[in-house]
Amino acid sequence: MTSKLSFEELGLIKPLTRALADEGYTHPTPIQDKAIPYLLNGEDLLGIAQTGTGKTAAFALPILQWLAEAEGGPSARSASVLVLTPTRELAIQIADSFQTYGRHSKVSVVTIFGGVNQNPQVTKMRRGCDVLVATPGRLLDLMEQGHVKLGGVETFVLDEADRMLDMGFIHDVKKIIAKLPTDRQTVMFSATMPGEVSKLASTILVKHKRVEVTPPATTVERIEQKVLFVDKKDKLELLYDLLTEKDVTRAIVFSRTKHGANKIAEQLVKFGLSSDAIHGNKSQAARQRALKGFRDGKVRALVATDIAARGIDIDDISHIINYDLPNEPESYVHRIGRTARAGAEGKALSFCCAEELAYLRDIERTTRTRIAMDGEHKFHCAGTAEMYETGNIPKPPKQGNRGGRPGGGGGNRNGGRGKPRAKGGKNHRGQSQGRPQQKRAS
Ligand code: AMP
Repeated sequence: MTSKLSFEELGLIKPLTRALADEGYTHPTPIQDKAIPYLLNGEDLLGIAQTGTGKTAAFALPILQWLAEAEGGPSARSASVLVLTPTRELAIQIADSFQTYGRHSKVSVVTIFGGVNQNPQVTKMRRGCDVLVATPGRLLDLMEQGHVKLGGVETFVLDEADRMLDMGFIHDVKKIIAKLPTDRQTVMFSATMPGEVSKLASTILVKHKRVEVTPPATTVERIEQKVLFVDKKDKLELLYDLLTEKDVTRAIVFSRTKHGANKIAEQLVKFGLSSDAIHGNKSQAARQRALKGFRDGKVRALVATDIAARGIDIDDISHIINYDLPNEPESYVHRIGRTARAGAEGKALSFCCAEELAYLRDIERTTRTRIAMDGEHKFHCAGTAEMYETGNIPKPPKQGNRGGRPGGGGGNRNGGRGKPRAKGGKNHRGQSQGRPQQKRAS
């Protein structure tokens, strides 16, 4: 899984290797091993890798190194680095990674995503920043209002390009790219390479290097995964049936919402099953009580939301039950990874109603696995199973956290500093250029 080379041997500077050591990372992952030298050299890169491979650090570390060694800073409303990513969650995670790895070097990071008040984001952008991590819709909005200008971007990262396309962001992405200086370094990551992604890559990358890693052999392979097609209204009874089966000794039940988690736990208790809920609206004391009960075996089913479940570090979880499927495939991987720990075997059962079929498809695409169907339970919904089989998948319900507004009008001219980078010369930060200067379509 990891490289024999150390981070120092890859050419990373001390402030970064110190931050990595703080995190307990001893060696680069394969994608880091392959990508970091090219990126340090200023080359364009196409990385084929999915979440979980360490791809964020693979682009964040060379970018941080460039920022640390460069002089000068961003101008008002501008950023030196733009990272575009499809969802709010990813934007937050990526920004966190930049902060974490950049903790011993000075770096300013701003995150922009939709679904929240824009004012704090506008205020933060007023002074400009080193790294701007954004989802496409809100970024375009702020560009159109004149709050963000992209003329100073020197490195552009397009993260999760395939999901960007799946989620219908391609037009927004293209409009944003059109506002970037053509003289820049471009990095594109995608888990899969459908034709449309290749086409996009060929228009935005110049003489790029290509690196690819196969999905990591994680514990996920040891987990027996099943999908149970069920009508939404039958989910609770199906859950009760499963939980009363003998081999369910300790289960985490995932709900998409806090309110849902409460309701499920309350209903289970009414049915006479020991259960408790854990989520962000509960006090720290209540969460710890629930966890203790779960750890001690007094609570058989802990109903959790994704965020709350991150803090759960308990072995011997026999089952993960996805009462609701997550709209983020990575959440699925994180969820089911909570079973089958320390070499144990685990089971992951996912309920899927018609509205969730699109999520199931995304999960299977990301994990590159086909989840077997369990049609033996008494609430099996043959109609939903057939819809999936035949590809008749309804559009998923609108989520508040998909980070952006569809569509969008034309952009304003953002001026740009228009400072062309001379081959082998210096950029505005006074840094030597290793970046090739080819023409690219924008
Ligand atoms: P990513 O693919 O960027 O989502 O990263 C997956 C996870 O791997 C994150 O939790 C990172 O913090 C972690 N990670 C990244 N690089 C390393 C490394 N070299 N060693 C161990 N863990 C890492």
